[in-house]
Amino acid sequence: MTLLRSASATDTGLVRSVNQDLALESPTLFAVADGMGGHAGGEVAARLAIDTLAVAFTRNASGAGLYEAVREANASVWDHSVDNPELRGMGTTMTAAALVEEDGRDVLALANVGDSRSYRFHEGELTQITADHSLAEEMVRAGELTEAEAAVHPHRHILTRALGVSSAIEVDLWRIQPRRGDRYVLCSDGLTNEITDDQIREVLATVADPQEVADLLVRAARTHGGSDNITVVIFDVVVGEDDEDAPTVAAVEVDFVTPSSDEPPAQVGSPSPADEDVTPLAGPEPLRPSWWARRRSRRKARKAARGRRLITLRSLLFVVLAAGVVAAGWFVVRWYDSNAYYVGVNNNELVIYHGRVGGGVLYSPVEVQRTGVTIADVPSYVVPQLNKGVPESSLDSAQSYVANLKRTQIATTCVQNPALPICAELAKLGTATTTTVPGAVPPTTKAP
Ligand code: MG
Repeated sequence: MTLLRSASATDTGLVRSVNQDLALESPTLFAVADGMGGHAGGEVAARLAIDTLAVAFTRNASGAGLYEAVREANASVWDHSVDNPELRGMGTTMTAAALVEEDGRDVLALANVGDSRSYRFHEGELTQITADHSLAEEMVRAGELTEAEAAVHPHRHILTRALGVSSAIEVDLWRIQPRRGDRYVLCSDGLTNEITDDQIREVLATVADPQEVADLLVRAARTHGGSDNITVVIFDVVVGEDDEDAPTVAAVEVDFVTPSSDEPPAQVGSPSPADEDVTPLAGPEPLRPSWWARRRSRRKARKAARGRRLITLRSLLFVVLAAGVVAAGWFVVRWYDSNAYYVGVNNNELVIYHGRVGGGVLYSPVEVQRTGVTIADVPSYVVPQLNKGVPESSLDSAQSYVANLKRTQIATTCVQNPALPICAELAKLGTATTTTVPGAVPPTTKAP
């Protein structure tokens, strides 16, 4: 069983007006986040990252769980910045440590992104566990700068990794065997930019109470300039599992595992005897994301892929339905326009047209029959109506209408002049005076 004792302190410093650092201190989970970004973006990013880390780690309190919790914190800050354009560009560092049980043993899992740091103080020696993800430190690791040059390099504050600035993040992770008497320091760069590792080590070596240590370190950073926010979390291993198996703390094994590199972390000062026994595990240990995290990643990837498609299934269906409605409307209107006839006049001749009087929306009238009947052959009172067009429902009814007009005119003539030859023929048909013209007022007739 392992017991920890912790404390923390934070300060805005002497230059900044707001504190964008945030500390997390709980019985088994500790973290420091150093937010960045204007318009309160740094505060929002640090708060989102810390809150997400705490909730996600509670779901899976393991080394892999810590790894996933940091990745989830990244997604949370990134998603929030995408949804809130005024916060674009915000981000945060994150260094986090958790006491977890793996294979029946207590271990410390430690994760890092950015240039906040984690140190281990063991038997009087201070070791920096994390590697800064800053441009200057990357150049040091590449052999392009010395530590002294990096300390004053103009790009020493430019980060090469931070949470929330991209949808994907690479997280460094270590497993460490907790040993009784060891102390751990998580801090923002507001501490390490102002005081040296030797000064930190001196405080850790001489002050027992962790709260006093945290307060002294913050005060020292203020005294040396306080140009940035300063945050420190201290936790001491007051009982370690090695107490049960090896009370003399002889059998200590510390494993540093980084997923991105086989190299052990940078070390400050001479390695302690215990550190000389450090053996990196064979290659990066596969800290598999949890089932829940993999499912979440797949869903996000599918969602992102859907978002990139030019035409989605839903929009395609909408276009097809809309096209169907338009086509159906077009056919209905055209059918209505073309499903009619009317009788009109063209060069004094009665003509039958296919279409609506005056023309339709989608169908222009077409001449289908010239009747050979002139306006002189029909009653004069229907001519104005014919000039406008007389609608009929079919070609047959239009032809009947014209025939009736002609017959009516003959009948009228025969009433006035029964001796005409045509009147005798009409009399034989028995239609001399009984014909009516649809839509017309018949003339007043006199008895023969
Ligand atoms: Mg800072």
